[in-house]
Amino acid sequence: MFVTHLESALDGTRFEAGQVHTIHQGRPLWVRYDLPAIRAVVQPGDFAQRPPSLWRYRELLPLAGNAEPVTLGEGMTPLLPCPRLGRELGLTNLFIKDESQLPTGSFKSRGMTMAVSLAKQLGLKRLAIPTAGNAGGALAAYGARAGMEVFIFMPEDTPVINQMEAYLAGAKVFLVNGLIHDCGRLVRENAERYGWFDMSTLKEPYRLEGKKTMGLELAEQFDWQLPDVILYPTGGGTGLIGMWKAFQELNELGWLKFSREPKASARFPRLISCQSDGCAPIVRAFAKGERFAELFPNAHTIASGLRVPAAVGDFMMLDAIRQSGGCAIAGTESKIRPWMERVFRTEGIGICPETAVCFACLEQLLADGRIKPEESVVVFNTGAVQKYPEAVPLNLPHIDKNQPLDLSI
Ligand SMILES: *Cc1c(COP(=O)(O)O)cnc(C)c1O
Repeated sequence: MFVTHLESALDGTRFEAGQVHTIHQGRPLWVRYDLPAIRAVVQPGDFAQRPPSLWRYRELLPLAGNAEPVTLGEGMTPLLPCPRLGRELGLTNLFIKDESQLPTGSFKSRGMTMAVSLAKQLGLKRLAIPTAGNAGGALAAYGARAGMEVFIFMPEDTPVINQMEAYLAGAKVFLVNGLIHDCGRLVRENAERYGWFDMSTLKEPYRLEGKKTMGLELAEQFDWQLPDVILYPTGGGTGLIGMWKAFQELNELGWLKFSREPKASARFPRLISCQSDGCAPIVRAFAKGERFAELFPNAHTIASGLRVPAAVGDFMMLDAIRQSGGCAIAGTESKIRPWMERVFRTEGIGICPETAVCFACLEQLLADGRIKPEESVVVFNTGAVQKYPEAVPLNLPHIDKNQPLDLSI
C-alpha cells in the first residue's frame, strides 16, 4: 500500500493513513500516495497484463495490500466510438465511456467497491448514506456483499428502481420529504446516536479514489494520452474531481505521453461540468467566478443524479474545472428526453437522463465554437437507461390479437 497520508483539501492539514477519517472543518480530505515508490514498482504497460477491472490499478488505490476487496466484478468499461452521432454533430472523434455496464447499473459502484472495502478493512459495521438514488443502490449491494448493515435516506420521489434495489439488497430504506442535502443532514445529525458511519459522497475519503479509476481507465484506453474534452454530468462532483486527481497523479508519475513536455498542463482534457438548468449550483458559481457554490433553490430535474443543490466538494470541482481550462454549463431540462432517444437511436447506446444533459451541453458548446470539430470528445454515460422508467412515459400502440393486423406504416 502506497498511501502516505490524508490531507485536508481546504487547508492541507495532514492525517494519518490507516485510521477512520471523515472531513476536516466540514470539507473533504485527499488521499496522498508515495508516487516515486509506485513508479519504482510498476510501469503503465503492466496494467494491461492484469484482469480488466478497476482493481488492476491497485498500487494507486488505498486498500491495504493484504486486504481482499469487496467486489462485484467492476469490469473496465468500454470506450465506445460514436462515428454516426459524431458525423451528425460535426465531430470526428466522439466517444461515450459507458459506465452503465458496471454492477448496479451506474458508476456509483466504482466509489462503493472502494469505500466499502476500506470500511471493512477499518472495521466499520453500520453504514448510512443520503442519496439521490444510484449511490444508495450501490451501497446496499456492496454492503450486502460485505455483510454490513446499511441505512439509506432518499428523497420520496427517488426513481422507484433505486428504492427497489436498495430494499431488495436488505438495506433499511427511508423516504424523506426533502432533497439529498436534507437527507444528508438527517444522517449527520443522527450518526452518533445510531452508530452510523456516514458514507456521503466526499465525507469519507475513498469513494473519490474509486471514481478516480475513471481517469486511469481513460488514460490507458487513450494509450496514455488523454482526450481534448470530457463532458461529465455533475451532481456531488466526485467523478469530476476524481478524474482530475487521476490525471495529476499520472502526470507526476511521468506516465502520460506529454508529461515531460513544457507547458504540459495545456494538454490535460478540458473538464466540462454539465448540469440541468433545473439544478445548476456549480454553473452559477462558475459564472460568478466564485470558489464556493450557494444552495440552488427549488432544485428539480428528472436527471435524479444531478439533483444536488449543495455539494461539500464544490470548491474542488470549481478548482478542477478552472485549472483544466474547461467550464460549467447547464443543459435545458426539456432536451433530456429528445437526447435520450437520439443517442440510443443513432448509436444503440442507452443513456441515462444525466448523460442526456451532457449532450444538450455539447450541442451548445459546438454551436458557440468552444469545442472544435477535430477535437476528441468523451461523454460519460454514468448510468443505465433501464433505471429510469419515470423519465420516459410511454404511449405505445396496442394490438387486438383477434383482428387482422393492419399497420399503417
Ligand atoms: C451520482 C450520479 C451522477 C453525479 O455524479 P457525481 O460524481 O456525484 O457528480 C451522474 N449520473 C448518475 C447516473 C449518477 O448516479
